[in-house]
Amino acid sequence: GPGPSPDEPAAAAGGEQAGGDQGGGDQGGGALPWPCDVVVVGSVNADLVVRVDRRPGAGETVLGSDLATYPGGKGANQAVAAARLGARVSLLGRVGTDAHGRLLRESLERDRVGLGHLHETPAPTGVAMISVGPEGDNSIIVSPGANARLSEQDVADAGELLRSAPVVSLQLESPLPTVLAAARAARRVVFNLSPPAPVPDELLALCDPLVVNEHEAAMVLGRTSPPAVQARELLGLGPRSVVITLGADGAVVADASGVTAIPSQRVEVVDTTGAGDGFTGALAWRLARGDGLAAAAAFAVRVGAATVRRAGAQSSYPTLAEVEGS
Ligand code: ATP
Repeated sequence: GPGPSPDEPAAAAGGEQAGGDQGGGDQGGGALPWPCDVVVVGSVNADLVVRVDRRPGAGETVLGSDLATYPGGKGANQAVAAARLGARVSLLGRVGTDAHGRLLRESLERDRVGLGHLHETPAPTGVAMISVGPEGDNSIIVSPGANARLSEQDVADAGELLRSAPVVSLQLESPLPTVLAAARAARRVVFNLSPPAPVPDELLALCDPLVVNEHEAAMVLGRTSPPAVQARELLGLGPRSVVITLGADGAVVADASGVTAIPSQRVEVVDTTGAGDGFTGALAWRLARGDGLAAAAAFAVRVGAATVRRAGAQSSYPTLAEVEGS
């Protein structure tokens, strides 16, 4: 069965000392006064991928490649990215009582993600149906399934865990009321506003940082402008800090102390799938360990660069040794 899980709050585990040693196995970090570094509240999906020469129109059928099934979902991706770096991570989410749910649970267990708050629900596990065209272009249909059932009550039930973690990491593949409830319970919120949608000012004000890519930033602001300008404008919407990811150009961060560009090393790109989630999982972990925003983002950019050099989302996330060797 699974190893010790970082899910139990220190108090429930019999005090801080016990809590500190419970976490994701032997990758360590020593005894810390919290049972996990990062709690991710979010989606767990099976990514169903078929390559096609062209996409079917309405009423049309085309033949594609063999089906490939990969573990995905923004929440699970973030959790795995952080866990692989050695973070003690717990994932609050929902899967169905079906084969995909079992597959995803086993995959998360292998990556030592704490699953004490991964619930089962009588709905299909979330899936992303992905067709990959001849140019490597993706078209994606997401069926949220069980993810849509992740509730405010689930957040309340995990209240102690959420309050005890130094960082809670959120995205928008879960219902907005659930995300907002988790943000309210958290000590520090890392929020990736993706997929982009309008969110209440209260949620923005709780972000430290708000994480978006350039397109999401433009959508939130209602226009495009240079990244440093976007960062300042986003900060004006209320978050305590902002991170904009810039693909091959790294990232830009902004907080009360100003705007800082975080350049990336040049790498040969194989597949950018899940790069944003890998970046955010890494960022959340470094912030939990006490890094400042620019230092955490500089580390996350290295993780992002490592991620695009390999195929897939979770399959591409590096270990700490791989990042430090890069
Ligand atoms: P995705 O949707 O592909 O998951 P995203 O659009 O959310 O990604 P990006 O800004 O494209 O986010 O990428 C996130 C991070 O991944 C970047 O900040 C960078 O660190 C890394 N990255 C992405 N593309 C490249 C690239 N071509 N070269 C180097 N690093 C990259």
